[in-house]
Amino acid sequence: MLEAKLAMSEAMVRVRFAPSPTGYPHLGNIRTALFNWVFARHNNGVFILRIEDTDIARLVEGVADVILGSLRWLGLDWDEGPYFQSQRLELYREVADRLLKQELAYQCYCPTERLESMRQEQIKRKQPPGYDRRCRNLTREQRAEMEASGIIPVVRFKTPLEGQTSFNDLLRGQIIFENSTLDDFVLLKSDGYPTYHLANIVDDHLMAISHVLRADEWLSSTPRHVLLYQALGWQPPQFAHLPMILGPDRAKLSKRHGATAITEYREQGYLPEVMFNFLALLGWSLDDKTELLTREEIVRHFSLERISRTAAVFNKDKLDWMNGVYLRGLSAEEFSRRAMPFLEKDLPMEVNRPLDTDYIRQIMPLIQERARTLAEVPQLSEFFFIDELEYDIGLLLGKIEKAEAIKSLQASAVRMDGLKDWNAASLEAAFRPLAEELKLKTSAFFGLLRVAITGRTAAPPLFQTMEVLGKGQCLKRLRGALDKLEIR
Ligand code: GLU
Repeated sequence: MLEAKLAMSEAMVRVRFAPSPTGYPHLGNIRTALFNWVFARHNNGVFILRIEDTDIARLVEGVADVILGSLRWLGLDWDEGPYFQSQRLELYREVADRLLKQELAYQCYCPTERLESMRQEQIKRKQPPGYDRRCRNLTREQRAEMEASGIIPVVRFKTPLEGQTSFNDLLRGQIIFENSTLDDFVLLKSDGYPTYHLANIVDDHLMAISHVLRADEWLSSTPRHVLLYQALGWQPPQFAHLPMILGPDRAKLSKRHGATAITEYREQGYLPEVMFNFLALLGWSLDDKTELLTREEIVRHFSLERISRTAAVFNKDKLDWMNGVYLRGLSAEEFSRRAMPFLEKDLPMEVNRPLDTDYIRQIMPLIQERARTLAEVPQLSEFFFIDELEYDIGLLLGKIEKAEAIKSLQASAVRMDGLKDWNAASLEAAFRPLAEELKLKTSAFFGLLRVAITGRTAAPPLFQTMEVLGKGQCLKRLRGALDKLEIR
C-alpha cells in the first residue's frame, strides 16, 4: 500500500525540455534544461526531451544534434525521447479537428497579404497586433465558397471575447489576463503543421507533464495554453516561469555580452561540471552565498522555493574563477586527460602527433595552477613541445648586459653538463650559487635562464620546468639562446 502510494507520488513529477531547433542552444536554453533535469532528479521524477520542430521555415539544420550533444556534455540525461514533433503531426491535426467540430476553433481563409497589411496598420496606430476575427463567423456557404476557390485555410482558436484567464505561477503567484487582449491565434497552419501553442499543449497533455518550467518570455503564451486546456477539458500542468538572465549591464543576455552558445564554452575549455554549477546558480541558490556545489548537492537541495523572483545576472568573471577552481581541483591524471584534446588541436603543427601521454603527464601539473580554461593549456605549455624556440632578444637580455648574458649562459651550460642528478632540487642547488659566482642578482640570473629555457618571461617554476624538459633539451636551448646573442 505504502509502496504503491510512493510510486504514485514519485510518478508525479514529469517535466520536459522542449527546445525548438531554430538556433544554437544558448545559456538561457540550457539553464531551462538544467532546472528541469535537476527538478526531476530531486523528485525522482521523469525528464523528457522533446524537439519542437514544427516551424519548418525557421529550422536550422544540425541544431537538434547540437542540442542533444550539449545535454550529453553536461550530463543532463533524459528518460524519454527525444520526441520530434514533426513526427507527430497526426496527433495535432486530430485535436484541431476536434476543436473545429466543437466550434471552439474555426477555419480562416484570410490571405497573408491581408494579415500583413493589417499588422502594419496596427503598428502604425500603435494598437496591439492581432487578427481582426473576420473569418470567425463565416456562414457555411461562405466557407464552401472559399474552399471552392482552393484557398487552404489555417485553423484559429475562438478565444473568448470577454472574461479573464488566470493561472497560478509557482514563482509569481496568480497571473490574470483579460481575454480581450488575446486574439484568435492560429493552431494549425496551412501547411498542415501545428503552431507552437497547439503542439506544445497537446504534447504536454499526452506526455502527462506535471510541471512546465520555462523561460519567462513564454509567460504571455500561457493564458492561450490555459484556454486551450479548458476548451479540451484537460487539466493543465503547473507553471513556473524562470527569471530572465541579464548581462552585466543588466540588458537581456545576448551575443553582445560575448559567447552565448553553450558549445562555445565547451570549445573555450570550460568544464561541464563548472557549467553545471554555474548555470544552476543563474536564478537558484542554496543560501545566497555558497558558490561551489557539486551536481549531487544541487540535486539534493534544489527547490522551486529558492528560485529567485528577480532576474539573474551573468557574471563572466565568476565563471572564469569557478573554472580555475575546478581545474586546480582535478587530479593531475584527470587534468591531463581533459587537456589532451585541446593540445592535440591547438599545439603548433610542427609538434608531432599523436602526443606523448607520459610527457604530458609530467608537464600538466606545472600548467594546472595557471590555466583558467583548458583552451589556454596549449599556449601555456607550447614551449615544452617546440624543438627550437624563437628568442626575442629584448626578453633575453632583460636587465643584463650582452657580454654578461653570454658569459652567464656559457657558465650555465657547463654547470648543467656536469650535473649528475637531474631534478628540480639538484638544479636549484647548482644554480643558486652560480648567481653569486657570476655576481648577478638571483632574480636577474634566473630571469635570463627562464627566457633561455622557455622563450618567455612568464612560465611555470623554472627548475621544475627544466626537470621535465630534460638535460639534453635544456642544453640545446642554452646553445640556441647563445647563438642568438652571439650572432647579434
Ligand atoms: N519550443 C519552446 C522553446 O523553444 C518551448 C517553450 C516551452 O517550454 O513551452 O523554448
